Amino acid sequence: MELYYVSTRDNKKKFTASQAILQGLAEDGGLFVPTSVPKLDVNLSDLANMTYQQVAYEVMKLLITDFTEEELKNCINRAYDSKFDTEEIAPLVYADGAYYLELFHGATIAFKDMALSILPHLMITSARKNNIKNDIVILTATSGDTGKAALAGFADVEGTKIVVFYPKNGVSAIQEKQMVTQKGDNTHVVGIKGNFDQAQTGVKMMFNDRELATELDNAGYQFSSANSINIGRLVPQIVYYVYAYSRLLAEEKIAEGDKINVVVPTGNFGNILAAFYAKTMGVPIAKLICASNENKVLYDFFETGCYDRNREFILTNSPSMDILISSNLERLIYHIAGDDAAKNADLMKALATAGKYNITPDMKAKLVDFYGNYTSEAETADTIKALYDKTGYVIDTHTAVAAGVYKKYVASTSDETPTVIASTASPFKFTRAVMGAIDASLSNEEDFVLVDKLSSIGNVAIPQAIEDIRSAEVRHNTVVEVDEMCAEVKRFLGM
Ligand SMILES: *Cc1c(COP(=O)(O)O)cnc(C)c1O
Repeated sequence: MELYYVSTRDNKKKFTASQAILQGLAEDGGLFVPTSVPKLDVNLSDLANMTYQQVAYEVMKLLITDFTEEELKNCINRAYDSKFDTEEIAPLVYADGAYYLELFHGATIAFKDMALSILPHLMITSARKNNIKNDIVILTATSGDTGKAALAGFADVEGTKIVVFYPKNGVSAIQEKQMVTQKGDNTHVVGIKGNFDQAQTGVKMMFNDRELATELDNAGYQFSSANSINIGRLVPQIVYYVYAYSRLLAEEKIAEGDKINVVVPTGNFGNILAAFYAKTMGVPIAKLICASNENKVLYDFFETGCYDRNREFILTNSPSMDILISSNLERLIYHIAGDDAAKNADLMKALATAGKYNITPDMKAKLVDFYGNYTSEAETADTIKALYDKTGYVIDTHTAVAAGVYKKYVASTSDETPTVIASTASPFKFTRAVMGAIDASLSNEEDFVLVDKLSSIGNVAIPQAIEDIRSAEVRHNTVVEVDEMCAEVKRFLGM
C-alpha cells in the first residue's frame, strides 16, 4: 500500500516518500509526517532471526513505499557495510541494570551515522526517481555530530554538495577536528559566531526563501536537508529500536510481547521520535524516557505542557543536546493534536514569535507514555564514574545523561521493565569530559594523551575515526557571522 507524507502545517497536499526526502522541509516550514503510521507486518519472533540489514528492510519498506525492493535493499546494503566496525551494526551491551544500545559503531562514532550512512543513497535514488537534473545541495546545521556524519556520508557523492554550519565555540575539540579535516571537493564546513539554535534558524530561513530557491534553480542547484527534520533520517532511526527488541528476544532476555522501556538522550527530538514511531508500529515499548541535560526545555514541557525556549542557552559537556528548539517535537505535537495541521501551525507560530506555546489538557493526556527528566553537569559526570567504577564500562557524556535520568526514573517509580538506553556516541568523541569525570587529575593533559588513557582504562581499541584525525590536515577554516550564512553558501556555489 502506498504511504504518503504531508506537512505538519498544512496537510492537504500529499507527497511520496522520495519527494519528502528530496525536499527535506515542507514549503510552509512544516515537517513531513506519514498520513498514517503502518504496523509491522512480520512477527517480532521472526525478526529475532534477522540481521540488522534484514530488519532495516522490514521497517523501511513500510515507510518508503515508492522505492522498489531492489532499490531499498541496495541502499541498505551500501549503508550498513564494513564502514561499521561490527557486523551487528548496533550491539546491545548489558551494564548495571540496563541494556546499552551502542549506536556509535559507524564511520564517525556517533549515532548520526545510523541514518546518515543511508541518507545519501536514499537521496540519490529519490533524485533519479523524480527526474531531478539539479545538483542537490545539502545544507546542515550541526551541534557537532550531524555535521561530521553528513560530511562523511555525502563526501564525493556525485550530484551532491554539502555545506555544514557549526557553532564555532559550541562543539568539542575532537568534533571540530573531525569536521574541519573533512576531505572531498563537494564539502564545505563553516563555523558561525553563534549557537546551534542560530545555525539551525539560519538554515531553516534559507530553506524557506523562495527567491533564493529560484536563484539556485537557475544555477542548477536545489537544497535539501540532512538534519533530523528529513524523514530520510527519521525512518532509518526507527530500525534500531525494532532491532534492539529483536536482539533481546534472540538472547531470551524477554519473551515475545514483553514490554521494554527506552531511554534516549535528547536534543532535537529526532531519536526519541523514532522510538515513538517504533512503538506506534507495534514494538512493545512501555515508557519513552526523554533525557535532557541542563538545557531542560523538554523536561519542563513534559512537566507543565508549556514549551518555553525563553531561557539561557547553557553550554554543557553533552553539546549535541545543547538545544532549546527541538525541531522534531513538532511532529509529536501534530500527532497529539489529532493530526490537526492548523492547530500545530498556530502553536509553531507562537513558538516563532513569543518563543513559547501551551498544549491543551487533551494533548497533554496523550503524552502519558513519555517521562522526562534531566541531569546536571555534576550528575552526568558522577554517572560516568559510578558506572565505570562498578562495571569497567565507559560511556560518553550524552549516554551518561540518559543513564543518570534512568536512575532517577527507577528511583521514583521502582519500574523493573527491561530497559534499553540509546548509547549515542563513543566515549572517544568526548574524551576530555569523560576522562575528567573518571579522574579529575587528568584535566591538563592533551586530547590525544587522554585518548590513549581512555583506551587503556576502558580496555577498548581506539576507533579508526579517532586515529584518522590524529594527524589529519585542517582543510576548512571559514568562520562567519550568523547573518552571513546565506552569502557564504552562494560564495561556495559560485553564485
Ligand atoms: C544528536 C545527538 C543527540 C540528540 O539526538 P536528537 O535526535 O537530536 O534528540 C544525543 N547524543 C548524541 C551523541 C548526538 O550526536
